[in-house]
Amino acid sequence: MRIDGNTRLVGIIGNPLEHTLSPVIHNAAFDYMGLNWCYVPLPVEHDEIEKALEGIKVFRFAGVNVTMPFKTAVLPFLDEVAMFAESVGAVNTILFDKDKLIGYNTDGRGFYTALSRDLGYDVRGKKVLILGAGGAARSVTISLAVAGCSRMVIVNRSSERARSLKEIIRRSSSDVEVQCLTPEEDYDVLLADSDLIINATPVFSFGKSGLRIPVAMLNKSQVVCDLNYSSYYSPLLEEAEARGATVMDGKGMLLYQAATAFEIWTGLEAPVEVMRVALLRALDEARI
Ligand code: NAP
Repeated sequence: MRIDGNTRLVGIIGNPLEHTLSPVIHNAAFDYMGLNWCYVPLPVEHDEIEKALEGIKVFRFAGVNVTMPFKTAVLPFLDEVAMFAESVGAVNTILFDKDKLIGYNTDGRGFYTALSRDLGYDVRGKKVLILGAGGAARSVTISLAVAGCSRMVIVNRSSERARSLKEIIRRSSSDVEVQCLTPEEDYDVLLADSDLIINATPVFSFGKSGLRIPVAMLNKSQVVCDLNYSSYYSPLLEEAEARGATVMDGKGMLLYQAATAFEIWTGLEAPVEVMRVALLRALDEARI
């Protein structure tokens, strides 16, 4: 990588950032494309988010990614927010263009692209069940609702958070039927009757020690996804695979949200396979 007076900067705002894989993924893409660009980590304290965004303008960054815990906190300081990010209520990518900070959310598109491109899955008319109602669940469910799924069951510990997500989904698409339950309620039949099941919680274990998931109801007609992208296999995906279901972890979502951010900043098609190799190698080396 060459750094000189013409190097264009992008980066990631978050805290902590020690384990972020984004610099590796993006710098591999810049290298491959022969772009004089560089992606750097930008750790920020909680009360410094406004100053950090001023810094992006002052140093003429092309843009930044935003990660936990600032995806919502950046919203008041942006000049424009794309419609999808507005619906999700969170931004993970900012473009600095013509003196304006423009916010996007590429997580939902990342998940949708992983499903459609890597699995060849068409979500139209499908019945979806999602565990979780946090930021990742919001972006994933809205993108699936807009893409035409027919039913969305939200299973979440906090009923209030699930109900708030239900309202957001209904505003994005009036065609989708939405139901909310807690993990302790009986959702076994709904799970068995779902085409696509997604774990959007950070919980790995289930049963007595974790989240209640009636895994015995999983079957071979289903696609089961876990948004966690650790290289260690998820117990949920193991159970699903043992019952013949098709499984997908969160690496594809991570990859395609990065590819979309790359395209927003550079205006060029992202070298997805180069980015995938860099991501897999980094995960392997970090043993995450
Ligand atoms: P978040 O906003 O903090 O939401 C966490 C969700 O998990 C909430 O619905 C929460 O329920 C639920 N939860 C947390 N601990 C729980 C427990 N012990 N038992 C039951 N439910 C629990 O987090 P997020 O950003 O949505 O991230 C969720 C997961 O997705 C993380 O593992 C993250 O790594 C992954 N993710 C992956 C990608 C990717 O690119 N692959 C992108 C984003 C996120 P309550 O509402 O009841 O608290």
